[in-house]
Amino acid sequence: SRRLIGLTGGIATGKTTVSSYLGTVHQLPILDADRYAREAVQPNSAILQRVVDRYGSDILADGEHLDRHKLANTVFHDETERHWLESQIHPYVNQCFLDVMAALHDQPTLVLVIPLLFEAGLTEQVSEIWVVACSEEQQRQRLMQRDQLNLEEAQARIESQMPLAEKCNRAQVVLDNSGDRDALLAQIDRALLSAPAPSVSIPSP
Ligand code: ATP
Repeated sequence: SRRLIGLTGGIATGKTTVSSYLGTVHQLPILDADRYAREAVQPNSAILQRVVDRYGSDILADGEHLDRHKLANTVFHDETERHWLESQIHPYVNQCFLDVMAALHDQPTLVLVIPLLFEAGLTEQVSEIWVVACSEEQQRQRLMQRDQLNLEEAQARIESQMPLAEKCNRAQVVLDNSGDRDALLAQIDRALLSAPAPSVSIPSP
């Protein structure tokens, strides 16, 4: 009955900002799906080999590392390829979560950062869902600025995801990141206090 916080949101709504704060200030272990997904295709991995078998060695940047931009361009507009790629990577990511959760069995609270928590059907794996949200206009602006994208590119990435409003509807906690950073951090402190803390045995007098 420990606390497993599933942290998600839309692209560029502030998940990294939230997880860094939970990790540094609140000292909570952060399990990051994106990090495991990058590990899945590291040089010489079995999964990277399958990617090369499917798309050719042009998908590598230097003959060794996956060129993530090329891969994104290859699969972004092709649902079949996107599903194939996910079917390769998701089992690896899920196993990483299980392994790290088992290794951290004595930690009362863990944070699982899972950008595709809803899309990948992982809602049952966590005990509470937090969604980081902002207005679509802010999301677009922040995404354009951070990743040097034009309006159309940013819009296409936002629209390829489940609508943020739908994610908010399915969350126990919505962190509103339409204000400044301090306003966001204050909501995180409150959310941590608001849910029931994991049971601790209180010695009787
Ligand atoms: P991704 O889905 O791409 O991993 P993310 O959800 O982790 O993104 P962040 O990287 O935390 O989002 O934030 C996206 C961008 O918006 C960053 O450049 C960040 O500095 C900026 N940002 C986050 N919160 C705010 C805020 N409250 N005000 C202004 N800019 C912000």
